[in-house]
Amino acid sequence: MSNVKYTLVKKFSQLTLKTMHYLPTGGKSYPGFLFLKYSGRETLPQLTSDQIDIGSIVITGTNGKTTTTTMTIDLLSNDMKLSTSVDNNTIYALTTGILKDSSELGVFEYGIRDIEHGEPDNIQRLIDPIGVVYTNISREHTQVLGVKNSFKDYVKAKTLLSQGMDKGVVITNCDDPNTAYIGFNKQDDVHVTYYGFELESLEDIFEAPEVKCPHCAKALTYSKHYMNHRGIYSCECGFKRPEPDVKLTKFVTDRDKWIITIEGRVYNQVVDDEVDINATMSVPMLGIHNLYNILCSATVYASFTKDVENINEKIEDYFNKLDFTILPPGRFEIFEVDDKLVGIGQGDNGDALKVNTLLMDLYADDEVEFIYNTPDEYEDEVFADHQVAIRGLNPAHLIVVPGRVSVDKAEDYYNQIKDEYDSDFYPVEYDFEKRINNIIGLIKDSEYKYILVSGCGEEQLVWDEVKRRLKEESS
Ligand SMILES: [Zn+2]
Repeated sequence: MSNVKYTLVKKFSQLTLKTMHYLPTGGKSYPGFLFLKYSGRETLPQLTSDQIDIGSIVITGTNGKTTTTTMTIDLLSNDMKLSTSVDNNTIYALTTGILKDSSELGVFEYGIRDIEHGEPDNIQRLIDPIGVVYTNISREHTQVLGVKNSFKDYVKAKTLLSQGMDKGVVITNCDDPNTAYIGFNKQDDVHVTYYGFELESLEDIFEAPEVKCPHCAKALTYSKHYMNHRGIYSCECGFKRPEPDVKLTKFVTDRDKWIITIEGRVYNQVVDDEVDINATMSVPMLGIHNLYNILCSATVYASFTKDVENINEKIEDYFNKLDFTILPPGRFEIFEVDDKLVGIGQGDNGDALKVNTLLMDLYADDEVEFIYNTPDEYEDEVFADHQVAIRGLNPAHLIVVPGRVSVDKAEDYYNQIKDEYDSDFYPVEYDFEKRINNIIGLIKDSEYKYILVSGCGEEQLVWDEVKRRLKEESS
């Protein structure tokens, strides 16, 4: 392809950026789509090097991608000019982010559900990232559009995003055996930076899942469980949790805040030198899982900023000012409604419901009622993970309501757990207004002081709306 055509297509695609803001989607993918269609995928490396001076970082994982990417962008944008793309999964959105601005560094979120619906190996080849970052890999999203994909393929898709790298840094969660193993296999090719918890005080309240060794498939032995499959583990084959380079070493509750300390040393790719991290800050009680997002984004920041002076002050300053708006819509929060304490928000996979449950458990010093919003058809795997979270909480009263489309399937899930608890089922049809009113009515009529409302639901149309109305009434 001629350079003239490449330049024309690039200009034309960039022009569409301006007009696309008026479209409902905000034009997240369209300019990138145009560019790739008319200029061709193989010109993406040229576009990337034309637009971005130093290189790109790609952030992936099952949970926490968006929050981690947002925090990373906030931290790095103080020191450098960035190209970014947050909260989407396609090569088109990513290309749109590259077209938008010329910059020093690219920071892109990239979610991969499976190999068929993503193209991790192409992204790696075409973007040629100097950093690939893994949050965690859990098994909740292995069903896509009703089709069950094996967890092995899902892990493979994530692995492919960094497999071809021959320079740069892989930053990965070592408390998660699957992301740790990805790092373990790249140690000879690139710098690998592990982050993880080093906490005596934190223990999981849930029954431990059986986790297979990613190397030999035997069951891993855990000496400590932090959260679900994350913890300190080893296998008889020799694979074990790598020692973290960056650790969360302190985590204490102080009124409505958490005081945390992050310590460690990383290799900084941009200045080609080692950098020390030692930061203590007080953050809102965002949920234990967000501590991983904080730890991860601070690690990425220290590994890629060009301005390594005072990084600890900058990390502390940013996280000290953090508030709940960092979290995506529908996020879980706890607030008072008529002298009751209600914890409400999205928990649409096992991991997410567990962290909500854990946070509610921290607050509740009496019996908890749980208004559980079920998954849909073909989501039996999610339901199985939800059951573990429900058992961990052991609610005094369980109310089951349909969270997704199918009311019949909700009833089927209800029938599977009803005998374990004092329970009721409300078969509210697929109508957001009716569902919102039902949830609000149940909270108002409840005789319990602590109420958890979570599970699957429409993030903005249901969770945000229920929260908004409850807060409006109580203010
Ligand atoms: Zn093994």
